[in-house]
Amino acid sequence: MIKVNENFLKLQDSYLFSTIAKKVAKFQEENPDKKIIKLGIGDVTRPIPKPILDAMHKAVDEMGVQETFRGYGPEQGYDFLREKIAECDYKNRGIDISKDEIFVSDGAKCDCGNIGDILGLKNVVAITDPVYPVYLDTNVMAGRTGDFNEETGKFEKVIYLSSTSENNFIPELPNEVPDMIYLCLPNNPTGTALTKEELKVWVDYARKNKSLILFDSAYEAYIKDSNVPHSIFEIEGAKECAIEFRSFSKTAGFTGIRCAYTVVPRELKAYKENGESVLLNPLWMRRHGTKFNGVSYVVQRAAEASYSEEGRKLIKENIEYYMNNAKIIVEGLKEAGYTVYGGENAPYIWLKVPDGITSWEFFDKLLNEVNVVGTPGVGFGPCGEGYFRLTAFGTKENTIEAIERIKSMKI
Ligand code: PLP
Repeated sequence: MIKVNENFLKLQDSYLFSTIAKKVAKFQEENPDKKIIKLGIGDVTRPIPKPILDAMHKAVDEMGVQETFRGYGPEQGYDFLREKIAECDYKNRGIDISKDEIFVSDGAKCDCGNIGDILGLKNVVAITDPVYPVYLDTNVMAGRTGDFNEETGKFEKVIYLSSTSENNFIPELPNEVPDMIYLCLPNNPTGTALTKEELKVWVDYARKNKSLILFDSAYEAYIKDSNVPHSIFEIEGAKECAIEFRSFSKTAGFTGIRCAYTVVPRELKAYKENGESVLLNPLWMRRHGTKFNGVSYVVQRAAEASYSEEGRKLIKENIEYYMNNAKIIVEGLKEAGYTVYGGENAPYIWLKVPDGITSWEFFDKLLNEVNVVGTPGVGFGPCGEGYFRLTAFGTKENTIEAIERIKSMKI
């Protein structure tokens, strides 16, 4: 008799964004004349810069010629891209990361989920609360958590690191020591970024306790403050205790094209039950080579072109466009009397919902009264209750209109 992976049955009903999509679709069906503005899902809207498209076109043409046709590539990525990443994202920032520590993939979402394959199932997991739901859900699927507790809104056996306005959304070190610590910085959804000193606290803690930090810096390109690290490897000793996930999605607009990478330092270790150490880089290489067949050549050439001078300039302009939207949202909401966080080093704005209503009630109010879609904070974890996320990824015109509409709404 075929058995199911019962861990999947512990998952909470529906993925946050599909619940939102259903509510929005229902509203639109019942109100076909209303123009809904979506500032909910964190998806980019600006088109791909021309130098990147040109590189893709060229790569496509190469596929049609005998001499330049490519079949399977190296699973961990072509050298031309891994070398570019090592040089531009690390060496040029004074960080010693080399090509063989970089694994190119089709998404940071997949990497954040797949990394669990090489880590023991008995590991205790810590996640910040609220956070991007993938870290928690993939650990539920793997069986590293207990059941969901309806009363607390939390899974048993998981350490939730509370991030609220009381601690300025900066999680504190937990009482119980976790083995796997997910840090998403700049943070989705709160927009929080940590300074080097603040991140060093976590690196020192992980080294002392032989824990592993899983550092998701999908939004590093949005960092403005000079004392906010773009990579965890800017912190001394991080190569002994951290894996870093990066993505071209929010940087170069690749959410539809798909390309990302994971850095597993050569010296990074995990431990066997008997305490013997094992290097993680060869393990991840083995996993990647067995379960993944590489990102397409065409896409890797596009990713490479995102590092060209012209490519970088245009990407920077897109990011500035989004961050200008962030400013419009932050300033507009403040004028309307809301308490607002984020939007400075991240394309996310985290606002406090009016007293006396839940974040889902605020979602419904916004959708029904002014036809604007955002994301209820509680969807990112129990500490997100009472908060709401808006994204800066819309068009400028829609962003301005959405904020005007929110201002016109009675709180
Ligand atoms: N990590 C974080 C924190 C995200 O918010 C997202 C997407 O929203 C991803 C990863 C997904 O990245 P990718 O498109 O590379 O799968």
